[in-house]
Amino acid sequence: MSGSSGYDDIRLGDVVRMRKPHPCGSYDWEVVRLGADIGIRCRQCARRVLLPRSRFVRQVKALVSRSESTVP
Ligand SMILES: [Zn+2]
Repeated sequence: MSGSSGYDDIRLGDVVRMRKPHPCGSYDWEVVRLGADIGIRCRQCARRVLLPRSRFVRQVKALVSRSESTVP
């Protein structure tokens, strides 16, 4: 990660760990949609959630795995 605070270089397929757990107990989410809102899917229960980008960035605690695909 660079020196900037937060996680703003978001890519499709990234897996991130959130600060708070989903009600199902999982902390890990996969990025499934990019835009003004970020779509993420819970890795445990597969539920999808849309979050405003600014809020998403604040809630991410760590990048678990970086997507291999190169999205321009
Ligand atoms: Zn879940």
